[in-house]
Amino acid sequence: MDWQAAWRFFGELFFPPTCVGCQASGERLCERCLAAILLFEEPRCPRCDMPQVTRHAAPCAVCRASASQLDGMRVVGPHAEPLRRAIHALKYEHQPQLAQPLGTLLAQRWAVAGTAIDVVGAVPLHEARRKERGYNQAELLADRLAAERGLAVAHHAVQRIRATPPQVGLDRAARQSNVDAAFRAAASVVGQRWLLVDDVCTTGATLEATAKALRHAGAREVWAIVLARPVAPDAQALPTSESDVARGQGT
Ligand SMILES: [Zn+2]
Ligand SMILES: [Zn+2]
Repeated sequence: MDWQAAWRFFGELFFPPTCVGCQASGERLCERCLAAILLFEEPRCPRCDMPQVTRHAAPCAVCRASASQLDGMRVVGPHAEPLRRAIHALKYEHQPQLAQPLGTLLAQRWAVAGTAIDVVGAVPLHEARRKERGYNQAELLADRLAAERGLAVAHHAVQRIRATPPQVGLDRAARQSNVDAAFRAAASVVGQRWLLVDDVCTTGATLEATAKALRHAGAREVWAIVLARPVAPDAQALPTSESDVARGQGT
């Protein structure tokens, strides 16, 4: 145990964690708040996992209108409280322990709506941001999902080769050009069926760019799973990212 871990251990002994949702003492995300997390309603689109009016084997109108590097995406629920709050604490308030209950939510969704895959990997953070945060929250989520589903993990097969300014505040086109060519995948991905993990999907530009790198390197299939998606098709209109804008933080 390094000194930071020891410090956290003793800290939690004397100051038990409080729930990010309701501030109750005991757990970082209590049973009641966990149960209050909204899931998207069924039926859902077989490609993007967003709710549809009727059950269709065919993708929704949004998916039919846009080409994607992904074979499909799975989503737990809307970017709403208390899930929004928990994701924010995981990313910006140094609470990596939240990746455990949140990763379990991903594992549960994948158990219901996932397909056969070979490898789980996180959308990589640039090394500078990773150092600043101390961890990549998407990796922690992927680790938990993989452990619960008995899947292999390969975080270092995809790398972010270019630092990109935070996506927050950019429109769809700007986000796309911001992350295009920011990733590179290793030759080891040839023929593999991939599951990419991230916390939130806003326009999908980062996931698309990562998937593109995997396909370019020869991956056979690329799926994605995220905790949350804003409900409005244009995320810029949503108030959920305001605190991030104010802090100048991105993914
Ligand atoms: Zn709570
Ligand atoms: Zn769709």
